Amino acid sequence: MRNKKSPLGLYIHIPFCVKKCAYCDFLSMKASGEIQKQYVDALISELDSVRTITNSYELQTIYLGGGTPSVLDINLLWKILEKVQNVFLIDLSRMKEVTLEVNPGTVSMEKWKEYHKMGIQRISMGVQSTHNDELELLGRIHTYEQFLENYYGARETGFANISIDLMSALPNQSLDKYRISLERIAKLSPEHISSYSLIVEENTPFWALYGENGRKEKELPTEEMDRAMYKATKEILSLYGYQRYEISNYAKAGYESIHNSSYWMGVPYLGVGLGASSYLENNRYQNRSDMQGYLKYAADTEKRRNLVEALTKEDQMSEFMFLGLRRMCGVSQTDFMKAFGQTMEQIFGEVLHKMEKEKLLEIKDDRVFLTDKGIDVSNYVFSEFWL
Ligand code: SF4
Repeated sequence: MRNKKSPLGLYIHIPFCVKKCAYCDFLSMKASGEIQKQYVDALISELDSVRTITNSYELQTIYLGGGTPSVLDINLLWKILEKVQNVFLIDLSRMKEVTLEVNPGTVSMEKWKEYHKMGIQRISMGVQSTHNDELELLGRIHTYEQFLENYYGARETGFANISIDLMSALPNQSLDKYRISLERIAKLSPEHISSYSLIVEENTPFWALYGENGRKEKELPTEEMDRAMYKATKEILSLYGYQRYEISNYAKAGYESIHNSSYWMGVPYLGVGLGASSYLENNRYQNRSDMQGYLKYAADTEKRRNLVEALTKEDQMSEFMFLGLRRMCGVSQTDFMKAFGQTMEQIFGEVLHKMEKEKLLEIKDDRVFLTDKGIDVSNYVFSEFWL
């Protein structure tokens, strides 16, 4: 009898952007067409080098993220996806989910048609705000009108699964202004909406302005306002038929992201490309993040990636809890028992009861999940589960 293979998610990192946004600390950069071409050749050789992974894993979802995958020349994207199909012996059209991240300032009808032909099923578009002054402040390369034109273009081409990203807690952003963005996006009726609060990261232009002791630090919304925006997100989106299924993610029924959910469920994933992370056999790896080194060693697993962490059983139990609790359906006590051979009560009984008493967690039948109050202080709740 054939051994059942484990499910696997594939993340493909495309680290190029037209211009760096003012708040961004992702591994992304502006690059010439020549570097992009060399990078795709390196990605192809990395994909070739991981071929044996198909002996033990079955690819279920693909996520092309960045950076901005939509800056890539169409022929380069074709090349990557053809290699993926060849290495993993799959047909994109039969995959559970194939997502492409798109910046609204980098698409056209011609590109939409090609993406559709390639077998991309899901589009994730970062609009971040529907107000042009906020988009300018963020350093985005597109206007709201450009986003709209491209959103309709994607629909016209036949994309039936679109996710839109928004941001809240922007400098000087009022609750009303944020609500307008939410309503405008909800009225377009995308299948999925994510909304994250701005985090001011070091080594970004925003840090000098809005970071600790920054000149304009006071322009950031207060913590109370940040929470009010989170609450408004849930309120408004539920009026439009969206269900919150993770702290910052909302979907119409049946459109929860399978790829992203698998991260919260501890499903193994392989990340390819510059700085990409992988989680395989309870080990966490990371590819090198210097472009020259990556281009040189892409095909050499030893030199391309580092073991960041070998997760002990305790680490795995902690992750099971705090990743799983990000989902609104929470974690299952039966699944915990199946995974670790001990009950959740045995390992986390004390913290579970403490959190339940503080009304941060609810335990109902087999499942444990965050309450609304627990969502507000989720980082505190998660930290309690570190063993
Ligand atoms: S488009 Fe995305 S990845 Fe690129 S600079 Fe802006 S936020 Fe960063």
